Amino acid sequence: MTVTLNDLLAENLNIFCWCNKCSHNKVIKTEQIIKKLGPNYPVPLVGRHLKCKKCNNTRDITTRPNWPTHGGQITRHTT
Ligand SMILES: [Zn+2]
Repeated sequence: MTVTLNDLLAENLNIFCWCNKCSHNKVIKTEQIIKKLGPNYPVPLVGRHLKCKKCNNTRDITTRPNWPTHGGQITRHTT
């Protein structure tokens, strides 16, 4: 099952973007991307529409939900 932008909005999560070329990373607000791509857009494909501000890379950007990392106690279904 693919995670869509709407899923992130429901979970109150933003999108973590990572440039594989220069390791530049950024968190983008889910609402902002939904305005552009619509709520049913798959999160892993969002990177195709992004451009790295540091190295101008457009082809190799990874996007994933910005899971909270603090605390380390996350209970969540991952399947
Ligand atoms: Zn970059």
